[in-house]
Amino acid sequence: MVYLDYSATTPVLPEVLDSYNKVSSEYFGNSNSLHNLGIKSRELLESASKQVSELLNVGIDEITFTSGATESNNIALIGACLANKAKGNHIIVSKLEHPSIYAIVDYLVSIGFKVSYVNNTEEGVIDFEDLKRKMNEDTILVSICAVNSETGVRQPLKTIKQVINKFNSDILLHSDITQALGKVHVNFSDFDLASASGHKIYAPKGVGLFYKKNGVKCQKLLYGSEDVYHPGTPALPLIVSFSKALRISLHELDKKLEIVNKWNEKILKNFSKFESIKINNSKYCIPHIINISLMDIKPETFIHALEKHEIYVSSNTACSSGKLSTSVMALYNDKVRAETTIRISISCLTKLEEITVFLNAFNGVYDKLHSLNN
Ligand code: PMP
Repeated sequence: MVYLDYSATTPVLPEVLDSYNKVSSEYFGNSNSLHNLGIKSRELLESASKQVSELLNVGIDEITFTSGATESNNIALIGACLANKAKGNHIIVSKLEHPSIYAIVDYLVSIGFKVSYVNNTEEGVIDFEDLKRKMNEDTILVSICAVNSETGVRQPLKTIKQVINKFNSDILLHSDITQALGKVHVNFSDFDLASASGHKIYAPKGVGLFYKKNGVKCQKLLYGSEDVYHPGTPALPLIVSFSKALRISLHELDKKLEIVNKWNEKILKNFSKFESIKINNSKYCIPHIINISLMDIKPETFIHALEKHEIYVSSNTACSSGKLSTSVMALYNDKVRAETTIRISISCLTKLEEITVFLNAFNGVYDKLHSLNN
């Protein structure tokens, strides 16, 4: 099998799974219980939280473990809008967000908030002039993902925050960092709120992160016995797995980036041989995500043909498979290009032999399907 869909989800690392199993069996006490087993679990929870806060260089009270990025996006956007509605009712989002952000925005519009979509350049970076034009005295929140999940475009969050602050430093910046965390360096001082998922960094599914800078107002959406953003019994095995996966992901990050860059160049070099394939990446993209448009071949047909070779890639994001790629549309405004995308997402775990197997199969499948259509 050759797995090249790491941006959809990652396998759980064996050492992370070991921790999950160990914590499940040896630390099963409820970390809210007063007895010894509870205290043991509470101490482990505190040490996992401390590790995450140190790895991310943020305060321990600035992080909340959630069920994943979708939940974190909900808490951040709805919570921030509700808590700051006395200041205004306008929010701005980019055209390169994950579908969960647009679903939340639809809900916010249904309860009276107004939304503007900020333009991006052809290379995918936020158009600063358009951002300046779209901010007004009612703007309370801007949400821009750190890395787009379909094309890998990375946003200059620090500059975006500076542009916002120059207009009105009360406007909050939320960033969905799901596709950036563990792949590239993320500076948490660049934004006020952030969301991420563990299963993109080799932790199990069902755990994520919500970050809120101290002092930022954000209303809680869930109520329980504790006054926290994600109440209920802490999912200790998942939280410990998250902290371990994060530590491993961030270890020697630059070396891992070098490996991924090497595979990226190899794959793109192969694709550039085909005149009718369009490459949907710019110099602003992280090397982990390669996005192409086949133009005259349906992505589903192509993906299933590769699957016969036990090679797994995706069309656009796993969350909007089969639909037009909104990100490619936002970049090139070309319907055919946006309807025929294939996303190949690689990892530092990807091996040279896997790339070779993939490229051989890709070239064979492409030549066959392309000649059928021409
Ligand atoms: N945001 C981005 C950028 C993503 O790529 C994803 C996962 N595809 C999500 C949010 C949602 O993550 P989850 O499904 O883990 O909640």
